[in-house]
Amino acid sequence: MIYQKTHIKPNPNLKRGFNDDAGSYLSSSSSNSLVLRQLVSPKKKMPKVKTNRIKYPEGWELIEPTLREFEAKMREAEVDTHDGKRKCEALWPIFKLSHQRSRYVYDLYYRREEISKELYEFCLDQNYADRNLIAKWKKSGYERLCCLRCIQPRDHNYGTTCVCRVPKHLREEKVVECVHCGCQGCASGD
Ligand SMILES: [Zn+2]
Ligand SMILES: [Zn+2]
Repeated sequence: MIYQKTHIKPNPNLKRGFNDDAGSYLSSSSSNSLVLRQLVSPKKKMPKVKTNRIKYPEGWELIEPTLREFEAKMREAEVDTHDGKRKCEALWPIFKLSHQRSRYVYDLYYRREEISKELYEFCLDQNYADRNLIAKWKKSGYERLCCLRCIQPRDHNYGTTCVCRVPKHLREEKVVECVHCGCQGCASGD
């Protein structure tokens, strides 16, 4: 599947369109997937539906199309079948999309400086980005962390960290794919 860029009206105040990079954030992931309850299904974890009660900060209309694309892709990944895949593998596309969506919001605020603090906080509050994951990205050594599960000791049989957290030069296998989210390595400096 090819991701179609969403076209939005250019804003003269921006150096470039908000969606210029959307392709890289929304790179098409493999199609099959199982339901990943923590990330997609629970109502309180889902971005809230637009209602009149919510006050949308300025600039929202510029990032909304991309966030809606992510939402749609995650729904799609959720309902896809998982024929021929290992159970864990079926969840990877959803983890990946969740990661990309958080990164999109993070970059807009911290790297590209193109959204206001108010809009950034709004995205976190509405669960368009994972506040806890972003908190890790700000810490040295975790700038590229794939997902929170990969640093939770109880989830690993050996040692205290996932194989994807081991820097490339310290591990024997050159190519890895962790069982949690399919990460191929997210140590800083890899
Ligand atoms: Zn990882
Ligand atoms: Zn991992």
